[in-house]
Amino acid sequence: MHELSIAQNIIDIVGRYVPPAEQERVRKVTVRLGALAGVVPDSLAFCFTAIIHHTPLANAVMEMEHVPFTVACRSCNRTSATEPGIVLCPLCGSRDTEIMSGTELQVVSLEVDEPTPGAL
Ligand SMILES: [Zn+2]
Repeated sequence: MHELSIAQNIIDIVGRYVPPAEQERVRKVTVRLGALAGVVPDSLAFCFTAIIHHTPLANAVMEMEHVPFTVACRSCNRTSATEPGIVLCPLCGSRDTEIMSGTELQVVSLEVDEPTPGAL
């Protein structure tokens, strides 16, 4: 399953920034998902929750920012949101377009609690 490896990847990225001993303080992982990234959000959320269960990250929630698929048109110089994967300009029908957004799949932020004072 595609989403399972993506969820694992997200968790690996978190692990690069937060050492295992501090991972139980991770509250929120924000992921930016483009409409064309080929990810089923529900499935990704399910896999993420399944993987972090019984790990120090179990307290974390994943938040997804959805980015629409947009193309910039070189014929009419306008940028518009369109159906994911359709690179025709919806305004003038030109094929002379450039994909501006919608292919994102990235971890954009981590929210980590401060250590509890006095706790080791
Ligand atoms: Zn156009």
